[in-house]
Amino acid sequence: MKIRELLERKTPFYLYDMTVLGKNLGSLKKAADHYGYKVHYAVKSNARLEILRKVKDYGFGVDCVSGGELLQSLKAGYTGSEIVFAGVGKSDDELRLGLKHDIFCFNCESLQELEVLAEIARHESRSARIALRIKPNVDARTHHYITTGLEENKFGIDFTELPEAMRIIESNPELNFQGIHFHIGSQITDLSVFRNLCTKVNQVLEWFRERSIKIEHLNLGGGLGVDYERPDSDEAKYEEFFGIFNDQLNLRAEQIHFELGRVITAHCGSLISKVLYTKSGIHTDFLILDAGMTELIRPALYQAYHKIENWSQSKAQSEYKYDVVGPICESSDYFGKAVRLPESKRGDLIAIRSAGAYGEVMASNYNLRERGEALFIN
Ligand code: PLP
Repeated sequence: MKIRELLERKTPFYLYDMTVLGKNLGSLKKAADHYGYKVHYAVKSNARLEILRKVKDYGFGVDCVSGGELLQSLKAGYTGSEIVFAGVGKSDDELRLGLKHDIFCFNCESLQELEVLAEIARHESRSARIALRIKPNVDARTHHYITTGLEENKFGIDFTELPEAMRIIESNPELNFQGIHFHIGSQITDLSVFRNLCTKVNQVLEWFRERSIKIEHLNLGGGLGVDYERPDSDEAKYEEFFGIFNDQLNLRAEQIHFELGRVITAHCGSLISKVLYTKSGIHTDFLILDAGMTELIRPALYQAYHKIENWSQSKAQSEYKYDVVGPICESSDYFGKAVRLPESKRGDLIAIRSAGAYGEVMASNYNLRERGEALFIN
């Protein structure tokens, strides 16, 4: 798409390149099929219908963490049998919704959730396929806000709670035990972490084998990170990632599932914005954009890095350093500090790259700002 056409649009908006998404899904499919693995796309990373439909075209299922995501997935054409439902705090209504659509699996995260789900299922004369989310106590070596597999994290049940969990399951015939679930965190770039996960998973599998409890499926969550410095790189490390599990897990007949989100959607989306003002401080020059933390909160929330480009001056040298900030009345409202860019002017088009995952889905109306539109290009 030509810069001129983009300049005519009201900014800020999200721009999704569906060709980039399609290529990425194609390589994921190839790698997953190679190992016979199933992938459920983590809807939380981007819940746009267009994206969900494209993911479905490649034969993947979905991983939901709320009733809203479940309904959005149904709207996109997924059936209950393609949906897994995780979440540490599923409400009674959300559990009922999952039961009504006879979803593939509830990933249960506490002993009490098991009891509540059984009670609701009994009341509704339904049964629930379930997996137990277990805390592997593996450090994901990522930002502490997106680390989820440690003992002190709120997610999942402790290994020591397994006997009690199985007792609850065995005494409630509405609960149909399918398997176990793990998810240790997001934006994991040190792949050795997944080797550590495999060691823990093998120990848990052994626990079940010793008791002759059959595991139908093993869900290993998501977490594979992306290279935010290189938004145009299309070599996600799927082969290497799946290869680790293939090499390290002691499997019998278990079906292996993954719930990838970020690595699928990050690079296909950019947040497009315009420079409202340029401003010189004593030591710092600022570019003040018309997009802010209301459109993309990741830098403010966990100091996340996004590559920033000036598409109006793309041929000029990046000789200036700017703090690129938004218009919101919060000092945390920034996209990048000391960003090297060409000399930039009011009205220039600025792209904040790799914003397809955990970007638009986290947008808010803070300061009563309007929500921007999304543009999909092929
Ligand atoms: N599965 C669960 C249970 C999650 O909590 C998350 C994200 O936090 C994901 C999958 C997706 O993770 P990612 O987008 O890093 O692949």
